[in-house]
Amino acid sequence: MSPDAPSSPSGALREDVSDDASVSLSTAPFDRPGAEQPPTGKDALRIVHVYPHLLGTYGDAGNAIVLRYRAQARGIAVELVVVQPGEPVPSQGDIYLLGGGEDAKQTAAAHELRGDGGILTAAGRGAALFGICAGYQLLGETFLGVGGAVTAGLGLLDVRTDRLESRAVGNMLARPVAGSGLSDLIGFENHGGATVLGPDARPLGHVAIGVGNGDGRGTEGAVQGNVYGTYFHGPALALNPALADRLLASAVGELAPLDDALCDALRRHRLQEVLPATARVGRLQRLRRRLPGGGRGTGTSGATATLSEVPTSAG
Ligand code: GLN
Repeated sequence: MSPDAPSSPSGALREDVSDDASVSLSTAPFDRPGAEQPPTGKDALRIVHVYPHLLGTYGDAGNAIVLRYRAQARGIAVELVVVQPGEPVPSQGDIYLLGGGEDAKQTAAAHELRGDGGILTAAGRGAALFGICAGYQLLGETFLGVGGAVTAGLGLLDVRTDRLESRAVGNMLARPVAGSGLSDLIGFENHGGATVLGPDARPLGHVAIGVGNGDGRGTEGAVQGNVYGTYFHGPALALNPALADRLLASAVGELAPLDDALCDALRRHRLQEVLPATARVGRLQRLRRRLPGGGRGTGTSGATATLSEVPTSAG
C-alpha cells in the first residue's frame, strides 16, 4: 500500500494484496485515510472492515488481517476495503467485519450504517457479516445505546440486547454447538450488554468459562444464515481459526487445509494455562459470595466454570 496513492472515489480505503500465496502477514496500517491502490480484480475476495475508528476497541482490526492472511496463504487474492464513518459502505463485499466499541460509538455506528444501507444490501445478497460485541449487538434488533436508550439495530440477527447486572470482563471459553464443525471458542469479553436470542438465531456456543450472551441459558454469540455475532475479542479470529475459515468458506467455498501449528500452540497455552487460572479465580469468587457479606466488590461476573471443565487439548 502506498500512502501517496490517490483516494478511492468512495473515499473508502482499499488495500489490495497480490495473489502471491507465499506472501507473509503484513502489519502495515490499513486504515490510513487517503491511501489506496487499484482493486486486485473482480475475482478477489472482498473483505470490508467497517468503521474501525468507531468499532475496534480490543484489537478487533486483527480479524481483518487474519482473514486476509488465511485467504492469501491459500492463493486467494484479497481486496481489503476499510470504510470509515462518513464514507459509503460498499454493498458488493464478500465479508464484513464490525468490532467492539463504547455505547456512544456503537449508537453512532448503528445510525450511520442504517442510513447508508450498503451493509443491508450486502446482507440481502448473502454476504457474510461478523460482528463483535458492539458490532454484534448492532446487527440485532435492539440494544441499549447512550443513556440506556433502547436503540434500533440493523435487524440482521434475531437478537435483543439489554443490560447485565454487572459488567462481564474476563477470559471466556465456549463449546461450539453440536454439529457446527467449530472448535472450542476462546478469547476474552468486556461488555455490559445481555443478549437474548429469538427463534431465528442459533447460538454459536455454550459458555464454559465467562458470561457470553448473559441470557441465563449459558449461550454465547449468535448465527443466522451468514450473519455471525459474538462477544469474543482477542482478536477472535486469530484465536479461533475454524471460525475464521467458516467465514472464508461462506464466501469462497471449500478451503485447502493450512498448517496451523503456531496457532494450535497458542490455543493449547490458553486452554491449558490461562483458562484454568481464570476458572480458579471464578471458583474463589463464587466461594467468597457464599460468605456472610460476600459478593460485594468482587469485580467482574467473569468466570463461571470449574477447573475440571477445562479441556486439555487445543480442540
Ligand atoms: N457497549 C457495549 C456493551 O458494553 C459493547 C461493548 C464492547 O464492544 N466491548 O455491552
